[in-house]
Amino acid sequence: MRSLAVLHASQLVTLDGPKRPRVGAEMSELAIIRDGGMLIRDGKIESVGPSDEIEKNVGDAEISDARGRVVIPGFVDAHTHLVFAGNRLDDFERRARGETYEQIAKAGGGIWSTVEKTRAASEPDLLLQAKKHANWFLRCGTTTAEAKSGYGLTVEDELKILRVMRQLKDRVALEIVPTFLGAHAVPRERSLDAYLDVVVTEMLPRVTQQKLAEFCDVFSERGYFNIDQSRKILSTAKKLGLSLRGHVDQLTKSGGAQLMAEMGATTADHLEQTDEQGIAALKRAKVQPVLLPGAVYALGLSRYPRTREMIKAGLAVVLATDFNPGSSPTPSMPMVLSLACTQMKMSPAEAITASSVNAAYCLNRGDKIGSLEPGKLANFAIFDCEDYRELAYWFGMPQTHSVYIKGECVSKSGGV
Ligand SMILES: [Zn+2]
Repeated sequence: MRSLAVLHASQLVTLDGPKRPRVGAEMSELAIIRDGGMLIRDGKIESVGPSDEIEKNVGDAEISDARGRVVIPGFVDAHTHLVFAGNRLDDFERRARGETYEQIAKAGGGIWSTVEKTRAASEPDLLLQAKKHANWFLRCGTTTAEAKSGYGLTVEDELKILRVMRQLKDRVALEIVPTFLGAHAVPRERSLDAYLDVVVTEMLPRVTQQKLAEFCDVFSERGYFNIDQSRKILSTAKKLGLSLRGHVDQLTKSGGAQLMAEMGATTADHLEQTDEQGIAALKRAKVQPVLLPGAVYALGLSRYPRTREMIKAGLAVVLATDFNPGSSPTPSMPMVLSLACTQMKMSPAEAITASSVNAAYCLNRGDKIGSLEPGKLANFAIFDCEDYRELAYWFGMPQTHSVYIKGECVSKSGGV
């Protein structure tokens, strides 16, 4: 039996609380233990408490002295597009010059350029790039990341991306939660109707037969998949046993939030354009909103979701990076915390809750990760600061000291 004692955290941010996603005022309750410690056995948390009490039961456990640093649960990033080939540097430069999305697409950029590169990449090549991305997440303090397919857009290429996620499990410490997003865009070689048919009759049955995904997602947006088409994909996925997520109301308000409520989805993601009716629908159906301020920021836009209204309405808000090469090229949850506090007026405590325990519940893992409570996995990050609010306050500067998954150190500033 392997054991580890973490001692002398200036703040051990436990998020101990009700065994469900946190809402309203609960989002501000971090259950911090000052000069805190934890005892870990076989990858799981056995006890948490003041350091002097933990020290009494240390026995032969290895000791990790946090030396007055902050310890929080590892971030759970509930919305990423982690597996893709190449980058979109030319798009980035064109956007800075003021070119529109249409101009960029015409010049050979946009999502299609990533689809072409991802299709052309061999499975080992794609795995190598995904490994690099996964290690970036660890370095930012993230221990679990949801990851979507969606840059293949053929049966074989979508399956290839999902297989890469499966292979990542044995090659990186980061826990990956796979989501099928065949309906990310319509490929150039097919009509919308023909592609919709492929997603529903070929991709979804094969993905579920091979157990390659836990969730199905759809990009519901003008010019991509409308509400009826999105409903068709999501209802097929639901019948096949997948849980549902959706990119909705990002650039235009289309009733996407209402659709996710109607479908009994686990999450509705983006929501920049969602109004009070959409918020009320999510509340009635207990759908968790996943907010992605990195995409608003990196696209140079200014309309963030109505976060305060969502918290006031009692929604169990989640924050995520939306890591992708086009609109949100960041794996950094601390950067997202900064945006949440400065642009969406969340408090630092609400932002931490939204990126840990609430995020864990929206990935159906609330009983295993997301807080530092006895019985949960010992997934945590130590940051080089004394107060958890510093994570959102000092922005653009890495403060990660070390990251642990199941009690094992998987990333340390300056290398493991
Ligand atoms: Zn996304």
